[in-house]
Amino acid sequence: MQYIILDLEWNTAYSNKLGHFVNEIIEFGAVKLNDRFEITEDFSSFVKPQIEKKLRTRVKNLTNISNEDVADAETFDIVLEDFTNWVGDPENTVIMSWGDMDIRVLIDNCKYFNADDPHIPFVKYYVDLQAYFMQEKELPKGQQISLSNAASLINADCDEFMLHRALDDSELSSVCFKAVYKKDSFKHAIITCDDDYYKRILFKPYVISDINDKLIDKTQFCCKCVECGEMADQISDWKFSNSSFHAMFTCRDCNKKYRVSVQFKKTFSQLNIKKNVVEVKK
Ligand SMILES: [Zn+2]
Repeated sequence: MQYIILDLEWNTAYSNKLGHFVNEIIEFGAVKLNDRFEITEDFSSFVKPQIEKKLRTRVKNLTNISNEDVADAETFDIVLEDFTNWVGDPENTVIMSWGDMDIRVLIDNCKYFNADDPHIPFVKYYVDLQAYFMQEKELPKGQQISLSNAASLINADCDEFMLHRALDDSELSSVCFKAVYKKDSFKHAIITCDDDYYKRILFKPYVISDINDKLIDKTQFCCKCVECGEMADQISDWKFSNSSFHAMFTCRDCNKKYRVSVQFKKTFSQLNIKKNVVEVKK
């Protein structure tokens, strides 16, 4: 097996074709590691932007990449082909990146420039290095540690790296990787990027706004009186606003009035329900 740590930089570009913003890749950087996790080769290339030619000021400041740097570079499809050739056999390669945002952006760029085909030609096995690092360091789930904070945590010297540049970030990621690597846990962190993986990563979670949607759990449309525990009476229709359904309820025995909010959010694997009961003072 060989291990490749990939890092991308991108510009926020508005696509007239799609009618929304796209993270357009402007730089590829990567290091290849052998079985002992020593760097054996590296890859670094700018990408000529095509969706928006000029880089955002925020992007220029963050990355130190200039319009001149990318103006004469090869376009995405050429750099992708070069990179795929550099990777070699995907069956024999584990691709890693700091957080899965790089993979999401790659998928978006592949789709955009390759007739809506989301497949990344060089990825068969993948590890989210940020998630793996956090797991091994037993950091709380839900918040994401930045690469520079991870480097500080293991007392790595960041001074020799230019942060937010693709090749330097991938080199620094390799330092963080080596510091937490354990054979057994790493095996379990490897994801196979099959059709199911693409379905999962392409799925956009959404809030259900149609009350007749079959996915809705109608048993949630009720309210128990906080005071007596009996079912309260509904006194207004369910209305959808601010991502939730709302209705008013009353318990006549206790002379209480309640505003109930229920939200149904569909993710790839489940339906998340958030319910809120607030007493309204008369
Ligand atoms: Zn009551």
